[in-house]
Amino acid sequence: MHVVMLNLCVHKNLMAFDTPSVFHYQPTPIKAKVIATFEDGVKCDEITNKGEVILNQTTFYAEMGGQCADTGKMLNEFTELEVMHVCKAPHQQHLHIVKVMKGQVKIGDEFTLMVDTHKRSLIQNNHTATHLLQKALKNILGDHVSQAGSYVDDERLRFDFTHPQKMTEQQMRQVEDQVNQQIFNGLNVDIQIMNKDEAMQSGAMALFDEKYGDEVRVVSVGDYSKELCGGCHVSNSAQIGLFKIESEESVGSGVRRIEAVTAQKAYVALKKNEETLQTVSDILKIKNKNEMIEKVNHFVDEMNEIKKQRDQYLDKLNSIEAKEKFKNIEDIHGVQFLFVKENKDIATSKQKTFELRDQLDHGIVIMISENSQKISYFVGLTPSMVQSGYKAGDIIKTINTVIGGRGGGKPDFAQGGCASAELIDTAIEQIKALF
Ligand SMILES: [Zn+2]
Repeated sequence: MHVVMLNLCVHKNLMAFDTPSVFHYQPTPIKAKVIATFEDGVKCDEITNKGEVILNQTTFYAEMGGQCADTGKMLNEFTELEVMHVCKAPHQQHLHIVKVMKGQVKIGDEFTLMVDTHKRSLIQNNHTATHLLQKALKNILGDHVSQAGSYVDDERLRFDFTHPQKMTEQQMRQVEDQVNQQIFNGLNVDIQIMNKDEAMQSGAMALFDEKYGDEVRVVSVGDYSKELCGGCHVSNSAQIGLFKIESEESVGSGVRRIEAVTAQKAYVALKKNEETLQTVSDILKIKNKNEMIEKVNHFVDEMNEIKKQRDQYLDKLNSIEAKEKFKNIEDIHGVQFLFVKENKDIATSKQKTFELRDQLDHGIVIMISENSQKISYFVGLTPSMVQSGYKAGDIIKTINTVIGGRGGGKPDFAQGGCASAELIDTAIEQIKALF
């Protein structure tokens, strides 16, 4: 949908124009006479490029009540106009925003009005479906549901309503089923003009953000739904064909939004789901779709089992690795001294330092790890070493000084980093001499 930005209604020429124009809901071609021509809201004698036209009568719906405008053409022997948008003028006449494709247009010209009826019928599908949706939501979720805004065009419908939490999958399915059931039931749509009190007594649901005069339009879909509405509707619910919810989301505190599609678009959406299912069964090499759920459950079980086994193997591997490393523990005057070189990421090396240290009784772990051209080192001391007055931070300082690195930390753990570890063995010898 293209939106034509309008800033016309402010000009005094347009403000002053109050000759009435009649709107007919039925979009069959009619002849109409031009009663006013404007360019950007300023009166003009003729339009040769772009401008705005008011007719004595029209079949073009002007955007309002959440329903988009009609588009189409206006034709006569000499002139062809494209109607790009229609909005309401200050005195409620339908103001046609036109582009001149051929000829020109002036007051008194007569045109045949050709509303894009395919687009109109798609809009009608979506508008009547919105009424069905509102009723279904009230039925399924409760009477607290009330409309907080809506928009329909030829592509989709959008409906905002009050409801405190996200709808469940089951509620969505129930709403979708109920709307489709009303479509399959082939309910006649009845439109009556009545006075406001009569309408209220008849139980019609008033729509949000619409101003009602003394006379109101009541749109009933069978006995299922009854609403005050000025929009365009199908004559029988079966014309909607199919209804499919596309999304349900929050658009503010206590307000939810449903977007849905109808007719061919709903069919396409369902086909797309089917294709996704087909792709998944191709990937998983499932020939019989009826076995799909069973097979996928089986795959998930199998994967969980494999993960469990992998974790067990990793645990075993870690304990083997740790035992291997412990073979390298040196006893320096009663201090267990463990120096480890690894090529793992920083987080893993740090974790390993803690794990190895925690398995010592009274000692020190120095871990050096090279990872993506960066060298990191970690020092861990057992609590008893800290009690004896040793500090991991001091040991890091010794390493820093020898190999030209930076770092520090707490008494029981410290870490540092440098660009080259060439002199690490010298540093280790100096540290050993501390005990
Ligand atoms: Zn409506």
